Amino acid sequence: MRGRGELALLTEIRERAAHAASRSQIGGLRLGIGDDCALVAPRRGEELAITTDLSIAGRHFRLDWHQPEAVGHRALARGLSDLAAMGARPVAAFLSLGLPRSLTLASGRRQGGLRPGSSSWVERFFDGFLALAEAHSTPLAGGDLAESPLAVADIVLVGAVPRGRALLRSGAKPGDLLYVTGTLGGAAAGLVRLAELAGRAAESALPLKGTGSSVKDTNSSSKGRSPGLKRMSFSLKGTGFSPYINAMEQLGTLASEGKSTGNSPANASCCGAEARPGRPNPPRIPKKLEAELAPHLYPQPRVRQGLWLQRHGLASAALDVSDGLSTDLAHLCQESGVAAEVDAALVPTHPAATLDQALHGGEDYELVFTAPASARLPRSIAGVKITRIGRIVKLRRGQPALTLLTSQGPQPLEPHGWEHFSSARI
Ligand SMILES: [Mg+2]
Repeated sequence: MRGRGELALLTEIRERAAHAASRSQIGGLRLGIGDDCALVAPRRGEELAITTDLSIAGRHFRLDWHQPEAVGHRALARGLSDLAAMGARPVAAFLSLGLPRSLTLASGRRQGGLRPGSSSWVERFFDGFLALAEAHSTPLAGGDLAESPLAVADIVLVGAVPRGRALLRSGAKPGDLLYVTGTLGGAAAGLVRLAELAGRAAESALPLKGTGSSVKDTNSSSKGRSPGLKRMSFSLKGTGFSPYINAMEQLGTLASEGKSTGNSPANASCCGAEARPGRPNPPRIPKKLEAELAPHLYPQPRVRQGLWLQRHGLASAALDVSDGLSTDLAHLCQESGVAAEVDAALVPTHPAATLDQALHGGEDYELVFTAPASARLPRSIAGVKITRIGRIVKLRRGQPALTLLTSQGPQPLEPHGWEHFSSARI
């Protein structure tokens, strides 16, 4: 991105970031956007907590599924949730954006952004980003902007925590009880609904049979309905977050209007976005579906709850549920050298979700934490319910690290959450 377009955009971002920051409590940022570096000065006795997260079109969001406000919100929520998991206070956010030029151009009509007059994709992205930043007193202190064939948002969050007091994954001990904030599975259930909604929108925009579509699927029993979409919605049902890839492959192929060029999920979904690069066209969310889709589109990072746990010194270990309870809890057990039992009947499943989605669905951004059995925990922290879901036990050779206690007896709880490259996150 070169020339006046980039400069005008940077100026606007700077003004908006400064405006949002002036309304936030600045807790350690001495100098924000405008110089070669930001200056961060943690308070005496604090250490810095730093986390980074990538959001890539076709992997973490889709231009034809997600409204830009939701993409901005979710990009920041991922980073804030990591700070929450460590019990750190947000100090500053840094955002690097790679965007196709088309996403920086005004569409010429207002599409319901939070800020009157905003209309380009990137402005609406910042509507969502800055609203969440302000809610958590997190100034945007710098970043970068470049033209890119693929929309990418790379977020860096800097937080501060009293030295030696950060909540770690490694502190759980046998006998500790296991807790979770809020409810689980809502994001996975919301994603299924969003996929259905986007599928219907894509279907209505697609050429149907005999009009040149090259969708390769012979299972076409339902009249007037794309067979690929049918298979997509079937493969998503009740299976948590892993089928995201299947869903994106299916919709990517369909949305490319026969221009699919590869078999990998990234290729397939990029093709979906690239087929109409100037017209990212996510479905409008009907009012009656807003609440059901909110856990997926606008997850709330548990920053206040993480800070509370850190300040009260009650939690022995913690992490956030980004990849799914079964996957993230396995990380906690591994780092602590322990095993865990989860009582299926106690898991606070979101009203719209299945138990499977609660156990394996990703991106709920709730906190999972352990505390000694003697710790007296409140029923809720800063308005969010706390639920005991199980306990930490000794890791025994030959035994699974995670066990699910069900009415039919104990069974291994295999990690089935989201894993890029089939391996754990760094
Ligand atoms: Mg995390």
